[in-house]
Amino acid sequence: MHLMLSHVFSLLCSFSAANAPAVAPAPRPIEFAVIESSCSTEGSHIRQFAFDANPNTYFASERNAAKSDHLTLTFDQPVSLKTVSVLTGTPNNEFALRAATLEVSTQGTDFESVATFADGKAEWSGNGKLVKAVRVRVIEDLKHPLVVREITLDSDPKVVTFRYPIEFTLDVKDAPEMKEWGQKVVRICEREYAMICDELSSEGFRPLTQIHLSLKSDYNGVAAAGGGRITGSVKYFKAHPGDIGAMVHETVHCVQNYRARNLPGWLVEGIADYVRFWKYEPGKAGRLTPERANYDASYRTTAAFLAFVSANYDPKTVTKLNALLRADKYDAGVWKTLTGKSVEELNQEWKRSLAR
Ligand SMILES: [Zn+2]
Repeated sequence: MHLMLSHVFSLLCSFSAANAPAVAPAPRPIEFAVIESSCSTEGSHIRQFAFDANPNTYFASERNAAKSDHLTLTFDQPVSLKTVSVLTGTPNNEFALRAATLEVSTQGTDFESVATFADGKAEWSGNGKLVKAVRVRVIEDLKHPLVVREITLDSDPKVVTFRYPIEFTLDVKDAPEMKEWGQKVVRICEREYAMICDELSSEGFRPLTQIHLSLKSDYNGVAAAGGGRITGSVKYFKAHPGDIGAMVHETVHCVQNYRARNLPGWLVEGIADYVRFWKYEPGKAGRLTPERANYDASYRTTAAFLAFVSANYDPKTVTKLNALLRADKYDAGVWKTLTGKSVEELNQEWKRSLAR
């Protein structure tokens, strides 16, 4: 109503456009929600599949659901909720929920029941109520697992569904005291996953949906990744708990998922550090020594070179290089195709820009 009145007012007074009362911009969508459950995940049926806009995938609990078990979706900020509907059971209609309620919470702590499940479905019209979290809660012991196919929301602002569903599992058996730190890291890596997958997208490629992160006492490096597994050193991360970017770097390797052998290691590491230092934590890479900089010096030095080429030639440089590496079509000639210049010419230009 306010918007309409101010609109009429501006017409009547015939202000210049610059003076006209501004119409409030649409609120930015909520980019991330956290989805948790009291039940652990069965196989590959991860929690984020319950909020991925794809009714063919679903969350399933490992064990039969008991009274008070839940699956809870918590938004970064409260949203004005118009409707929420939840579909449970597998696509074959197994394990549709009956003895359960749909609940909402304004703060994310205390919940109120707003609908009960019938034939595996529940829905509620929130009429704009501010809601921070919605959850499915089982109200009696069941003889089957908790299976949630899809939560669908209509809200203002909109909550973005998981475009690249991912679930990290954490193993801190070697250092139980690192559990809290590990959970924090896992949450950050899950949150950054869509950004990483967008940066490293390529035709027909589907990123991993599960990554196992373990902290090991007998591991002497910093961290390493391969085949959906990340290993980190207990000793290193105890001494450097702030170096979460190192785990984001390893998560990038999991998304790269290159199969070919003999790829240029400097570029593989350069891309991982480019995503880390130019997308996840810009400005943290530190200063380069111009005399020692070279495009193939790996890690953050190559990352800086990639940033230079991205800024001056093509903002999609890293996405394109990643696609070539993933398809095993990378060779030194691709720089000329992408930018019109050889990698040596680009190197000289970049080094001159550093010396300035
Ligand atoms: Zn690396």
